[in-house]
Amino acid sequence: MKTSALKFGGSSLADAAQFRKVASIVKAHEGRVFTVASAPGKRNKQDTKVTDMLYACYDLAVAGKDYSDQLLAIRKRFEDIAAELGVQFDAEGEFAVIASHLASGPRRDYMASRGEYLNSKLLAQYLGYDFIDPATCVFFNADGTLDANKTNDTLGAVLAKKDKAVVAGFYGTGADGNIKTFSRGGSDVTGAIVARAAKADVYENWTDVSGMLSADPRIVTSPRPIREISYKELRELSYMGASVMHEDAVFPVMIAGIPINIRNTNRPEDDGTWIVPHRKADPESSEIVTGIAGMKGFSSIRIEKAMLNNEVGFAARLLEIIASAGVSFEHVPSSIDSMSVIVDSEDFRAARSQIMESIQERLSPDALIVDTGIALIAVVGIGMVYRRGVAAKVFSALAQADVNIRMIDQGSSEINIIVGIDEDDYEKAVNVLYQAFFS
Ligand code: ASP
Repeated sequence: MKTSALKFGGSSLADAAQFRKVASIVKAHEGRVFTVASAPGKRNKQDTKVTDMLYACYDLAVAGKDYSDQLLAIRKRFEDIAAELGVQFDAEGEFAVIASHLASGPRRDYMASRGEYLNSKLLAQYLGYDFIDPATCVFFNADGTLDANKTNDTLGAVLAKKDKAVVAGFYGTGADGNIKTFSRGGSDVTGAIVARAAKADVYENWTDVSGMLSADPRIVTSPRPIREISYKELRELSYMGASVMHEDAVFPVMIAGIPINIRNTNRPEDDGTWIVPHRKADPESSEIVTGIAGMKGFSSIRIEKAMLNNEVGFAARLLEIIASAGVSFEHVPSSIDSMSVIVDSEDFRAARSQIMESIQERLSPDALIVDTGIALIAVVGIGMVYRRGVAAKVFSALAQADVNIRMIDQGSSEINIIVGIDEDDYEKAVNVLYQAFFS
């Protein structure tokens, strides 16, 4: 039997009606063995996520202000779910523990983790499964990163003893023995480490969209959903701002070669997107490009110097100047007598004078020019590896739309072409590129 680890996000578990949908999904296949739950999310647009309510409660407590209303509102969220589902819930006992924590030097991560802790307990009860507290089997290193090996061993041993269980998402135990959370959206990471530790065949990530879209729907009208994408393509698109999941959720399953299936709790009949270890480029397929993503907010530092190409170590010195100012670079397009470094405008702003002075001093350029207001767009697809004319199509689409290209970069993996354009042209450029490849 094929087995899955499932993760349900906050909107999938926001109220009793959503719990019912989740239960019918979990019970639909015998192989859906381990379920990771988020805290209750928003029930409607105006609503507040329980995690945000918990952070607000913590803030009031450390400021020495009255937090009793906030705590009561949180308690009510769980009581309502439990009452409507007819599930046993010891609100009195659970909230007495939280209240005594708040009264005796509250810790931010502990407070935030209670959303997942309580919601997962409720879900476990409702499903009739065991509850697993990740405080006992998910561990962090002293530097705050996941202790992947210890977690995999301990969690693996815990899961091996269970047929079915619900694991709370988002937290574990830090090196100091206290509860520690991942960054926001971290239940995705818990789902991935549970899938790996359980040696599941699939990691099903259930959310409120039917998978990834091939372009940003705020820019392109009804972009096509992506049926299948490789980890590599996903990395390229997420790096450019197209995100469906927490960034760190890919690595645990990638190591284990487990595919991820992004699904919609509100439309379980949709196939969603499959994120797979490898995808073969099919020379016959009409699908050349998998997705288009981009971001505004970049600057280019351009250095011109005669005979630059003969100067050994020039690029290394330039990048070293930028790195030692704490700025990371995105791309380094170069030509014989000039070299540009594309950086995030916000990072650059803070370090601008330091970088400019060091470049003048150490590299003696003929000209040093900074351009701001650059947007980057990545056209990503495994299908372009064996295709001729993909770059030509990108450039002619942009030229026809009168978009000036300020930078071009093709990754050596050949699965992406990145162009830098004026921020003002961004929306127009994404649209024409989408039309060129998808319609
Ligand atoms: N509840 C946490 C958050 O809102 C973690 C998660 O949902 O994944 O960020």
